[in-house]
Amino acid sequence: MSKVRCVTLAGEVDLAGFRAAARQLLQQGNHPEAVQWLVAGAAAPDLFDAEGAASATPAAGLPVVDLAPEAAAPRVPADFLALCGDVIQHADPGRFHRLYRLLWRLQGEPALRHDALDPELAQARLMAQAVRREQHKMKAFVRFREVRNLHPADPADPADAAAGAAPLHVAWFEPAHHVVEAVAPFFMRRFAGMRFAILTPERSVQWDGQALTLGPGAGRHQAPPADAGEALWLTYYASIFNPARLKLKAMEKEMPRRYWANLPEAGLISGLAARAQARSGGMVESEGTQPRRRLPPGPNRVALADPVVNAGASAPDTLEGLRSAAAACRACPLGALATQTVFGEGPPGAALMLVGEQPGDHEDLQGQPFVGPAGHLLARAMAQLGWPRSAVYITNAVKHFKYEPRGRRRIHKTPAQQEADACLHWLDREIALVAPQAIIALGATAARQLLGRPVPVLRERGQWLMRHDGLPLLVTLHPAALLRLEPDERDAAYAAWLADLACASGHVHPATPQPSLPTASGTPAPRARAARGI
Ligand code: URA
Repeated sequence: MSKVRCVTLAGEVDLAGFRAAARQLLQQGNHPEAVQWLVAGAAAPDLFDAEGAASATPAAGLPVVDLAPEAAAPRVPADFLALCGDVIQHADPGRFHRLYRLLWRLQGEPALRHDALDPELAQARLMAQAVRREQHKMKAFVRFREVRNLHPADPADPADAAAGAAPLHVAWFEPAHHVVEAVAPFFMRRFAGMRFAILTPERSVQWDGQALTLGPGAGRHQAPPADAGEALWLTYYASIFNPARLKLKAMEKEMPRRYWANLPEAGLISGLAARAQARSGGMVESEGTQPRRRLPPGPNRVALADPVVNAGASAPDTLEGLRSAAAACRACPLGALATQTVFGEGPPGAALMLVGEQPGDHEDLQGQPFVGPAGHLLARAMAQLGWPRSAVYITNAVKHFKYEPRGRRRIHKTPAQQEADACLHWLDREIALVAPQAIIALGATAARQLLGRPVPVLRERGQWLMRHDGLPLLVTLHPAALLRLEPDERDAAYAAWLADLACASGHVHPATPQPSLPTASGTPAPRARAARGI
C-alpha cells in the first residue's frame, strides 16, 4: 500500500509540467497506480475523492521499479518524448496516466520501445496518430471571416497602433483534441500580415501581427456571421464541383461530417450531390466547346513579334498598340493553333503586375487572362485580400493557349522553353509600359521568364526576389496547381498561397495612370519604386 501522489498540471497540454513531475515521480519510485493526474481548472476524475488522501495498490503485472529518492535522472528514448508531445494533446483524460505507465515500464523493460505489438504502446501510437490527424484537419478546415470595427482601433493601445486599422479575421473551430496550441504557430506563419483570432470551446488564440496570445475558450455565438468573401467562396465551390467526379464516401473520409457544421461549403454538398447524376449525364450528352474565332492564317513571322527581325524597329509605346501588334504574332507555332492572342489586362499605371503561364481553354475562347477555373480561384484570393481586379495588371508569360486535342477536349500543355522565349519580348514590353512597382510570378513558367533562370517555386515562394532591372518579384504557386491538389490538401495550400500573395498587398492601390516618358530607346523611364512591403 502506498500513498497516492496527486499531480496538478497547469493545463491540458502542459508537457513541461508532465515531464518534470514524471521525472521526479520516477526518481522517487512512485508506482503509476499510486499517482493521480489532474489538470488545473478541469473537472477531476472521480477515481479518487480527495487530493492525495486515498491509497492504492500497484496493479498486478507491472514491474516493480525500485528507485531511490535521489536516483539518477531516468533515461527515456527521444522518440518516446516526441510521442508524449503528441499523446498529451489527446482528449482522453487518462492520457497522463497512460504515458506515465509507459515511462515506468520503460525503466524496467528498455526493449519495450521496439515492441510493435505491445498493446499499451500501440494504443499510445494510435492516440498520437489521431492527434496529428486532428492537427491536419484544423489547418485545413479553419475558415476565417472578416470582422470590421469589432473593436475600433484605440490609438493609445500599442497593440492597436501596431495593427493599424487592419480588419480582424475570426474563425470558430471545434477540435476533437487539445491541438490549438500546437497548430496556432502554423496560422501565425501563414497569415503573418493578418490580424486573426481562432475561437474554440476550450482555448482561443489571437495574432495581432506581433504576438500570439492564448486565451480562454469562447462560445460559437462569439464567431462572426458569414461575410461577402464567404459568398464568393461558395459560388466558387459550387462552380468547381465536378458532378462526374463525385465520390461521396471518399469526400466524407477526407472531410468527416463532424467538421461540416463549421464549414460553409458543407451546406452545398447535399444539393450538389443530389443533382450530380443528372448534371454528369448532361455533360456526357452535350457538345464539346468549339473555338469561336480563329486567327486568319498569317505569315510565319510578324515583324514586330520577332525581336531579332525587329531589332532597331520602334516598338509600340502604348499598351493598346502592343496589344494590336501581339494579336497577329506568329513568332512560334502556337499562334496558328490558338483561337486568339490573349493579351494582358489592367490599368497602365498599376503598381502590381501578376504574371501567369499561358491562357487556358476559357481564356483562349474569351480573349481575356484568368477567366477560367484558375482565374476564379485567383479572383477569390484577390477579393479576400481586398485587391480590386481593376487595380492590378494581369498577364501571362505566353500569350497563346498551347493544348493537345483529345476527343472534343483541348488539354493544356506546358509551353516549351522556345515558345516562352519567343513570347518574352511581349512581356518585357508590357512591363516597360505598365511600369509596375512589383510583380508576382504565378508558377514556374512565369518565374523562369521573369528571372531568367529556372526557379524552384516551392523553395523560393513567398519571398521578395530582385529582377535584373531592380524590380521586386514575388514567386508563388500557380492557382491551377492548387486546383490539382487532393481535396484534403486544398484548404491548407490555399491558406499558404493567400499568405504568399498577401506579401504584395502594400502594392495594391488604385492605379494612377502614368504618363509614358519615352527614352531615347523608346522604353519609358522606370518610375521611382516604393520600398513598402518588401
Ligand atoms: N492560367 C494562366 O496561367 N493564365 C491564364 O490566363 C489562365 C490560366
